Amino acid sequence: MKLDLNVSLAAGYKSSPQIARVVTENWASQNLFCPACPSNSLRQFPTNTRAVDFLCPNCNRAFQLKSSRTWNQHKIIDSAYSSMIAAIRSDSVPNLMVMQYTPQWKVQNLLFVPSFFFTETSIEKRNPLSPSARRAGWVGCNILLREIPPDGKLILVADGILIPRELVRERFNLIKPLSMLKANVRGWTLSVLNIVRLVGKSEFSLFDIYEFEEKLTEKYPRNQNVRPKIRQQLQKLRDFGLLEFLGQGRYRVISVK
Ligand SMILES: [Zn+2]
Repeated sequence: MKLDLNVSLAAGYKSSPQIARVVTENWASQNLFCPACPSNSLRQFPTNTRAVDFLCPNCNRAFQLKSSRTWNQHKIIDSAYSSMIAAIRSDSVPNLMVMQYTPQWKVQNLLFVPSFFFTETSIEKRNPLSPSARRAGWVGCNILLREIPPDGKLILVADGILIPRELVRERFNLIKPLSMLKANVRGWTLSVLNIVRLVGKSEFSLFDIYEFEEKLTEKYPRNQNVRPKIRQQLQKLRDFGLLEFLGQGRYRVISVK
């Protein structure tokens, strides 16, 4: 099915959370495709049945859609902190789709975060709800998008422009090997990958990464041997086909456009 971005999601509707949900899910059920397999459609789940909104009929991957008119590239609000951490530990987080629509109900941005990019360090605990709140003491969380390497934020729509499906799938295939990492060791690998992307060079040295030693120590205070750990993660990234070793502590980045 062709994605027509020139057509409003629901011309003439006034905004409300309920309408937004109906309209964006309706749009998604007609236009979303599975980035992880050749399926060009996703099956919608009945509203509010569970934390999953869509399911791929071909590969069975589950997707959650979060849509909003505002766009924050650093963090998005999620549900209960404890259940999110439990889901990460048991590797049962659904894949995430983050949609931003305009006041005219046009899809402006759409991001896809594969489930295997969620780590405990990408989740921020929020303050408990105040004693006067209906759910007093309840603790929610934010997903820190900035803690997720760009590899794990696949763009489906950018500034109203649709990214070709083939390119999205090509990018997904490049990062797919990372899904083999177990939830408890994934954090380090993805933190180092995020640093490689922050450094932003097509070729870099070990010392470019060592510059971030202090930041990593803050993030993983229990680990005393940060430098060996960095080298170990770079080896993993090489084994996953994301880096090439050039020798003498130099590396080359392998990426899709
Ligand atoms: Zn699929």
